[in-house]
Amino acid sequence: MCMFLNIPHSLHTLLDKPDSSSSPGYSLRRLAGSWSSHSRLRELGAGAVASLPPILRQPRQLISLPRSYSDLVNKASKFKCANHVVDGDDGQAAMLCLLCGQMLCTNSYCCMTDVEDEEEEEDNQPGHKRLRIGGLTRHAQTCGDGVGMALWILEVYVVLLDATNIRHVKGCTLTPPYLDQYGESDPGLRRGSPLLLSEESVQQLDTVWFQHQVPERITQEMEQNRNLMGIVWSQM
Ligand SMILES: [Zn+2]
Ligand SMILES: [Zn+2]
Repeated sequence: MCMFLNIPHSLHTLLDKPDSSSSPGYSLRRLAGSWSSHSRLRELGAGAVASLPPILRQPRQLISLPRSYSDLVNKASKFKCANHVVDGDDGQAAMLCLLCGQMLCTNSYCCMTDVEDEEEEEDNQPGHKRLRIGGLTRHAQTCGDGVGMALWILEVYVVLLDATNIRHVKGCTLTPPYLDQYGESDPGLRRGSPLLLSEESVQQLDTVWFQHQVPERITQEMEQNRNLMGIVWSQM
């Protein structure tokens, strides 16, 4: 067909050819150019993006993080949950969403909410129609289409959450991209050694997000650490 039309066999050759009216494919390029500049094409393109499955429309970049972990610790210590009516220490529950940068209150009663259990509604079984979910699970529904990635600041863990099925929320923890001078993390800040951002670890975390590996990574971590199955991730 290409031979019959006297145009190059590959798109690459076609587009890279010098733009002279005598070059093969010149007319085709002009035609393609006029098609691609049509105003209706932009509307159709927008429609195509909107019709993509949610997982393909997720943000493509994680938030940028400060160089020193102490900046995040300060942020956590100043955090006040809007739902917390009694003055208290909200820092321990403070989590930073790595997808949008919002501070969340996790695993804490003040931000637990009850949601309808639609499957139970369908089953028509009374008594179990509501599910109690935590701040991160709820946030993940709108921020990551059910998938969450957040930094539990004072615990020094990245939490991955797969809450795409609200009845079977799964999760795991990963080492955050902050390491001390010996290349180690400091869970719970027990040693108190200064932690600095590790670009290599950031890249690894980026890859998990960009390549939609969160559910797969959770499954892998759960296979290696059965204790993860005992955690009620939906209340995270
Ligand atoms: Zn978020
Ligand atoms: Zn709260």
